[in-house]
Amino acid sequence: MKYLILVGDGMGDLPMAELNNRTPLEAADTPFLDALCRQGELFLTRTIPEGYPPGSDVANLSLLGYRPEKYYTGRAPLEAAAMGLRLTPEQTAFRCNMVTLAHASDNEVRMIDHSAGHISSEESHQLIAALEEGCASDTFHFHAGVSYRHILMVEGKYPQMNTVPPHDFIGKEVTIPWARYHAHPQWATLLDKAQAILADHPINVHRVAAGKNPANGIWLWGEGKLPAMPTLMQSFGLSGSLISAVDLLKGLGINAGLSIINVPGATGYLDTNYAGKVLAALESLRSQDFVFVHVEAPDEAGHQGSLQDKIQAIEDFDQKIVGPIFLGMQDSGEEFRLIATMDHFTPLCLRTHTVSAVPTILYDSRKTKPGCNVPFSERSGEAEDKRLHNEIANGELLMEKLLERHKHG
Ligand SMILES: [Zn+2]
Repeated sequence: MKYLILVGDGMGDLPMAELNNRTPLEAADTPFLDALCRQGELFLTRTIPEGYPPGSDVANLSLLGYRPEKYYTGRAPLEAAAMGLRLTPEQTAFRCNMVTLAHASDNEVRMIDHSAGHISSEESHQLIAALEEGCASDTFHFHAGVSYRHILMVEGKYPQMNTVPPHDFIGKEVTIPWARYHAHPQWATLLDKAQAILADHPINVHRVAAGKNPANGIWLWGEGKLPAMPTLMQSFGLSGSLISAVDLLKGLGINAGLSIINVPGATGYLDTNYAGKVLAALESLRSQDFVFVHVEAPDEAGHQGSLQDKIQAIEDFDQKIVGPIFLGMQDSGEEFRLIATMDHFTPLCLRTHTVSAVPTILYDSRKTKPGCNVPFSERSGEAEDKRLHNEIANGELLMEKLLERHKHG
């Protein structure tokens, strides 16, 4: 038996007036998702436990069968894993964004840009090298990632600072969270030194001259220690792979003990290499039990607020991922169980994630049960749960259902 989880990131949405009160998923042409759904089971999965922020990290951790309440420590250690950094128990990883800040005379600090104009890796790596040279200590070390996304590794104890994600404050005041770092002398010194180094750096001088946002500050958030996750092999005896363009997902996969397949041309948007992902998924299942395929594009379209792109991204997920993988598995002659779902909703009207439970298809190639005979949508997922009086599943239960380890049917 082979097991597959196919995830369209942020696919879920709300009914929209311009779609005659349908959601983008309902309006999109999704013949494969609908056929799998009709022949399979449909139920809701709560990927974001109560009280947790609806991040892709928490949501995909759930979809991999882990309870965030037990295993989620923060976003940064997952990204650190994807960058090849292995945390010791004494270390804490912080996400270190290159940002553009504006300081007003009355001590007001404003987040102009959480990405310093999506600074290139070529530029940001030189800046990180300068910060490592000027600010590193026994406590702090910088590690360069992609574009504006880097890691600050912290040795030993660190103060509780209630850090906030900079993308939640674009164009807004960040005076209070900025002051929280400065309440601790060692951290105040680090940030002020970093700011002084960045201000005069030739890269920023050039960026300003070219009319681009300078990387004139760092923003530290998403901190966490190494998560103590058992691998899927340890929990379920499963070998498997994860396919995604996104570092966060790769970090989750590494911590779950999965092989990470880097597909060339996987961009995280509409121009991603869909065919490459399909081939890699089918290929990996020749020698392994499980594959997790993640497609970022619907979420990106949601953040951009583009209805057209979101529908395109959903149709691409259906026809370029779900369809070819389903047909490829049929051709292989292997029995398989397949989940198709999303990690969370990214409603176009909000342009950010919400905590709604997500509709989830479970298809079994042996067709051991009659199908639910409804198409795939947010609304039909809810209706099915009501009709069957289902208790809403969590990620752990989702994995147990996929693997047929769930005791209650
Ligand atoms: Zn997501």
